[in-house]
Amino acid sequence: MKHVMDELRKFNEERDWDQFHSPENLAKSIAIEAGELLECYQWSSDASEQAVKEELADVLAYALQMCDKLGLDPETIILEKMEQNAKKYPVEKAKGKSTKYTEL
Ligand SMILES: [Mg+2]
Repeated sequence: MKHVMDELRKFNEERDWDQFHSPENLAKSIAIEAGELLECYQWSSDASEQAVKEELADVLAYALQMCDKLGLDPETIILEKMEQNAKKYPVEKAKGKSTKYTEL
């Protein structure tokens, strides 16, 4: 993860793009790129693997840049959220079900 973060910082520094990367702009960019990812499946569930890889990379890159901007460790926040989700979705209630936790 550190190598990716270093490359993202270098890419942005070389272009003086950090000035555009407010948390608000990064959050908007994540949503926009998530839309582009969804667009891969707009008319068919058989999306181009290359297109999906590229849009998923865009989503991940913006998410990592937002973590960096906010001083958050991506691994830590994912693991913390998984702990919350494990409480909301105990295996004995949620296994094999797609039901929202409020309906379990
Ligand atoms: Mg894109």
